[in-house]
Amino acid sequence: MKIGSFSPCIVKQVVNSRPYKGMQHVGIKIRNLAIKIYNLVLPKNPITEKRQIRLIPTAVERLVGKVSYDSVCPKEQMCTNATWNTQVSTVFDNLVAQVQRKNITYQVRVLHDDDTTNAYCLPGGFTVITTAMIQALEEPSDFDREFPDITFEDKIAAVMGHEIIHAAAGHGAMKMQLKILTFCAGKITSTVLPHLLFKRRATQDDNTCPQTKVNKHAKEALGKGIDVACSLASHLFIQSHSRCNEFEADKYGMLLAHSAGYNPLASVWLQKKFVAMEKGESGGKASLVKKGIQLFSSHPPSETRVHANRKTLQEIQSGTLKLHYA
Ligand SMILES: [Zn+2]
Repeated sequence: MKIGSFSPCIVKQVVNSRPYKGMQHVGIKIRNLAIKIYNLVLPKNPITEKRQIRLIPTAVERLVGKVSYDSVCPKEQMCTNATWNTQVSTVFDNLVAQVQRKNITYQVRVLHDDDTTNAYCLPGGFTVITTAMIQALEEPSDFDREFPDITFEDKIAAVMGHEIIHAAAGHGAMKMQLKILTFCAGKITSTVLPHLLFKRRATQDDNTCPQTKVNKHAKEALGKGIDVACSLASHLFIQSHSRCNEFEADKYGMLLAHSAGYNPLASVWLQKKFVAMEKGESGGKASLVKKGIQLFSSHPPSETRVHANRKTLQEIQSGTLKLHYA
């Protein structure tokens, strides 16, 4: 045995000893527990695979969607056109078969509403498309010759793929979570900050001093002012977050449609359709007022989405964008 080094025999004895094995076992348990806590607090988004805080459990997400579904789309107002119902549900089911997240209920209803061109998805996968939206997909457009290969089913897949991704990525639940957190942060700030700012003066002044009364009113006014400022900031923050979610739903919705065998180019057509509809409504003038409204809007401008969708199409065609499978 050399001085200053361990004999292999002694090292082997230490490694095989009971206290060492016990410590190793405890170490593995602590590491596994830490990984479990990390995955629970910061789970990976099933669509983007990005880590994010999730405070709303899946059961609550499902419950919120289920409770609201009958009120936003009552069964008696559902579309009776059997062809449309079959076409929509067939495309929807084909897309759902490809989606990664399976622990929510994916359902679709066609709402009889010929005035509102819309489709939306409640938390938990409860999806609605209006008859006005289906009519918009069916009617011919000036730019149709740019898209000779896309079918009506491809267009339905563009709409439904977008909505399914909203549900699968938990966008509705994240919005609920943001509203709760920003409301709490605003309330704490509007309560604590005026108290801290006026605390020193209140202790210095005599209770009978008129200045104390002035301070009390100023404190209340400041609290109300902070309340208003916080709710405005919260609204802007949530709307900006929603605009990011729209881009995410477009991108992964196109990928989902492609995985289910539909032509993702239909998502470019769809946004061009919205551009044409917006121009028809406003005469095509993008005024400063309109730009101001966009700041408060939850949806990004359709023209921006046309460009973003073209870029996504290139990524899909080159194979650089792929669906993550759990
Ligand atoms: Zn959307």
